[in-house]
Amino acid sequence: MIHGGVESISKEAYDCLRQLIEIPSMSGEEAKVIDQIKRVMTKLEYDEIIIDGMGNILGRMGNGERVMAFDGHIDTVDVGAPENWTFEPFKGKEDPEHIYGRGASDQTGGFVSALYAVYVAKKLNLIKNWTVWVVGSIQEEDCDGLCWQYILKEKIIKPEFVVLTEPTSLGVYRGQRGRMEIQISVTGKSAHGSAPERGDNAIYKMAKIANALETLNMRLPADPFLGKGTLVVSEIFYTSPSRCAVADSCTVSIDRRLTKGETEQSAIAEIEGLPEVSSTSAKVSMYHYNKPSYKGLKQDVPCYFPTWTIEETSWIVKAMERAHEKQHGSKPITDKWTFSTNGVAIMGMYGIPCVGYGPGDESEAHAPDEKIRKLDLNKAMATYVALLAEIEEAKDV
Ligand SMILES: [Zn+2]
Repeated sequence: MIHGGVESISKEAYDCLRQLIEIPSMSGEEAKVIDQIKRVMTKLEYDEIIIDGMGNILGRMGNGERVMAFDGHIDTVDVGAPENWTFEPFKGKEDPEHIYGRGASDQTGGFVSALYAVYVAKKLNLIKNWTVWVVGSIQEEDCDGLCWQYILKEKIIKPEFVVLTEPTSLGVYRGQRGRMEIQISVTGKSAHGSAPERGDNAIYKMAKIANALETLNMRLPADPFLGKGTLVVSEIFYTSPSRCAVADSCTVSIDRRLTKGETEQSAIAEIEGLPEVSSTSAKVSMYHYNKPSYKGLKQDVPCYFPTWTIEETSWIVKAMERAHEKQHGSKPITDKWTFSTNGVAIMGMYGIPCVGYGPGDESEAHAPDEKIRKLDLNKAMATYVALLAEIEEAKDV
């Protein structure tokens, strides 16, 4: 019965995905794609459609006491070097097996699956005690979770749990490492390059710090599920009056991935505690993100994205596993993402349980020739519909 509902709508969902791919929607430039999603939600007779003050779109079906949401970010990264693509990234190409284009797997495909699944569930009268929101969130690629920091801080909606529709190859994902964007700066004193002993070379100081960071990376703790915390020097900047001078400042950027138990404070303290950092009076700080949304809303937040996991035994994880198994006849793989998702805000900051399940593969994300299997879209839709049936039965926690 559920499968039937999905089969009859799949062609429409493919068309919708192709049309959304055809509208470039890089972070901060999502206005047109949000307009198109609003048209689709209106056509599918969503009970309520909100575009919030930041610019996220939220569609509601049902009016039950309990509230849950599907989240799908509808922004994408840019295409990178065009010569690496063998087809037009914004043409929405389709063949019998795949739909192609930027955002197909990461993650417009997941969003479209939720959009149509909730429509099908409503038509099948499966939504009774729940209010179900489908959220098309923005700016995720630039600053994961910022959209949901806004939604939750402004109390636009307050779901009991959220399904993240980022690509999981139809596995049930229950966490990810957190991350931070850190900056370390040292200063020195310039002097003529012919007499370096008169100056104080900031690059030499940073070289010692960089070596210490490389060793620190090897010492970082590991978690059996999430893996190891990591750290990498990703950028370096300097100032010097001339090529014939002693450099008077040097800064590096660090991409830090946090495993279970690591926090913003612990990661900063670890770096500040390095003798190479304290002896050179280096300054350790966080980068901030403050790019305005397409609606002009500017939020200034530190680039800290907390680690999150949900227990394997959680009723939400179990309900998702049952939904998959009932639809597809096999147990899903339970795993974690390597990349980051909006879960950093929803669960990492606000403690609202998240579970991941989506069509497409994580390896397609940000890669040239991005594509998604049409069969995955059908399967994800069927699982989402089954999940909505499952949670009507489930006793909470
Ligand atoms: Zn994504």
